[in-house]
Amino acid sequence: MDVSELLDELNDKQREAVAAPLSNSLILAGAGSGKTRVLVHRIAWLMQVENIAPYSILAVTFTNKAAREMRGRIESLMGRPLNTMWIGTFHGLAHRLLRAHYAEANLPENFQILDSDDQYRLVRRVLKAMNLDEKHWAPRQIQWYINGNKDEGLRPQHIETHGDHTQQKMRDIYEAYQDACDRSGLVDFAELLLRAHELWVKNPELLSHYQRRFRAVLVDEFQDTNNIQYAWLRLLCGHDNNIMIVGDDDQSIYGWRGANVDNIQHFLRDFNDATTIRLEQNYRSTGTILKAANAVIEHNQGRLGKELWTDGDNGEPISIYAGFNELDEARFIISQIADWQNQGNQLRESAILYRNNAQSRVLEEALLHQGLPYRIYGGLRFFERQEIKDALGYMRLVSHAHDDAAFERVVNTPSRGLGERTLATIREHARVQNCSMWQASLQLLQEKGLKGRAANALEQFINLITAMDEACAELPLEEQAEYAFRQSGLYAMYQAEKGEKAQARLENLEELVTACKQFVVPEEADEMTPLAAFLAHASLEAGETQATGEQDAVQLMTIHTAKGLEFPLVFMAGVEEGMFPSQMTNEEPGRMEEERRLCYVGMTRAMKKLYMTYAEMRRLYGQEKYHTASRFLREIPVECVEEIRLKTTVSRPVPNRFSRSVSHESFEQSGFTLGQRVRHRKFGEGVVLNYEGSGDHARVQVNFDEFGSKWLVLSFAKLEPA
Ligand code: ATP
Ligand code: MG
Repeated sequence: MDVSELLDELNDKQREAVAAPLSNSLILAGAGSGKTRVLVHRIAWLMQVENIAPYSILAVTFTNKAAREMRGRIESLMGRPLNTMWIGTFHGLAHRLLRAHYAEANLPENFQILDSDDQYRLVRRVLKAMNLDEKHWAPRQIQWYINGNKDEGLRPQHIETHGDHTQQKMRDIYEAYQDACDRSGLVDFAELLLRAHELWVKNPELLSHYQRRFRAVLVDEFQDTNNIQYAWLRLLCGHDNNIMIVGDDDQSIYGWRGANVDNIQHFLRDFNDATTIRLEQNYRSTGTILKAANAVIEHNQGRLGKELWTDGDNGEPISIYAGFNELDEARFIISQIADWQNQGNQLRESAILYRNNAQSRVLEEALLHQGLPYRIYGGLRFFERQEIKDALGYMRLVSHAHDDAAFERVVNTPSRGLGERTLATIREHARVQNCSMWQASLQLLQEKGLKGRAANALEQFINLITAMDEACAELPLEEQAEYAFRQSGLYAMYQAEKGEKAQARLENLEELVTACKQFVVPEEADEMTPLAAFLAHASLEAGETQATGEQDAVQLMTIHTAKGLEFPLVFMAGVEEGMFPSQMTNEEPGRMEEERRLCYVGMTRAMKKLYMTYAEMRRLYGQEKYHTASRFLREIPVECVEEIRLKTTVSRPVPNRFSRSVSHESFEQSGFTLGQRVRHRKFGEGVVLNYEGSGDHARVQVNFDEFGSKWLVLSFAKLEPA
């Protein structure tokens, strides 16, 4: 490849960053200014011009998806595969390191990753074993406490309790939890990072090997690193190697999870020879979208300050739509997407972004209704679904019998008549003997510590897992999965359940076979068995994507998940006070600014057209709430927006006008509400979707289960609440 090609598609500032001499550097720039592009070209430049081997490059991205894309882009620039280059998330890289050096890290060879849900269950079991009441010691809060401390690099013995009883107890729980993890070879997400850090601190020779190996370290989305991640980078960098970080303080959106935007300042302090390069030209969005996003973020204080401009067109105004309720909002969005598709566009170029995962359900239903395929990132996580975790539980036990989390999960699923009493005996035995529940079970059976039915049931379970282990040794991965959920009785259990939900679970189990078939053992895991590699993949990827094919589909995700991505058409849904900014914002200082940064991130995902929608009435978490338009909408200059009303479009809204409409109330006086289930003599049951007119002319649109959508004159229709 010609070197000039590497620099051709860059502006002057970007070129300066890509072709900079080897040194430490910070690229600080706003959304869509080409930071990620610079990182990709820089890596190619390092190999091509500085002759750095791919083996000596380490790049950190925020998601696994971003890592895959980055590798793909670099490989296509270089025209060859680059397997020896390390590209991944902090968690993925830490995991890789721990696998390679499990003994030095004090872990069993086949240690398992504990995801957030497993961790929650384990915390609950620890509380139970300590005889602590969950009402006083909320498991979620304990989980938060443990992870928070790990993110700060703190083990129980490092925590100062100042004689405070509650603090002491929390620390004891943390300690008991950690013992339980260590006993079963379980590593939670925060532990991956902390262990990887300790591994280097305790093994200076190993550290120095990696310092020599990784001559170039590059980090994308640096503004969202937490303290332990930064500490890990500091250990690695600043010797003979060098580091380039790219970030945007305005896009720091994980403060609530321990990310520390001050790490940018720390970096400048700790790497005081670093050069800072700013990029100011935005290549992603229209002038209007950029102007609006800049105006919103200007309401925050204490920014590092950046100018962002584009020489592109102003494009279309941002459309704001006020739905009567969340169903109306969803229907509006879906109808716009259908129009967009009819104009010859691809569905995958459109994205619906929302603040909370719970918002996706209504959107999904509307998409299903319209027959539009969609793909969800995060949220409905395939590998986190109950039935998948059950099946994986069996596979995990086969892979590593001492995995207590897996043991607890499946020992009585499906029911084998193993009661809570028996389990308590096993747990207690494991605690006293300091062994896994698997070992405890074997011992109890041998010593005849259990009686009658319980002993029989346990023995059957042990035999089942042992038989699986023997049978699976020679089978390909997908057959192991199938064997696990069939022989264990899981499949039969869901088959017996009937109903749509059980059907979906069966389909998901089938889908697991497909996921196994499609799984390719990654280069870095070539020393692991395919089963172990797949289980690690399932834990690490769980949060990111649904296991579905590459069909053209609308993209659904939270704004958090959308970081770093871009789409020609973007919808931001639920932009209303109480949702976005969220209710919690008032309770914590600094949260409002973080919400505003989130809004900035969402808006700047849009390339050509942005819609921002909200619902005046919303049912969420089983409650009805009336909301007003988000303050963020009012922070957008009026000339950048148009407000869309049903059948009418107001091109210049009066600020503060985003409020409830009067006709909506008169409709509700008719006794019906949008979204309500109603019954019609002839058409049967359906859902109220829409209405127009008033008095005798009032008409209502109902989507009937059997007959589809119909407009009816309200005074004739004789609808009844169903
Ligand atoms: P974010 O802050 O959202 O992560 P970013 O700064 O990483 O954004 P990129 O994703 O790298 O920005 O780039 C945004 C878009 O602009 C991409 O589509 C990219 O290909 C394009 N782009 C960047 N630089 C140039 C350039 N010099 N010429 C043409 N297109 C460019
Ligand atoms: Mg980026």
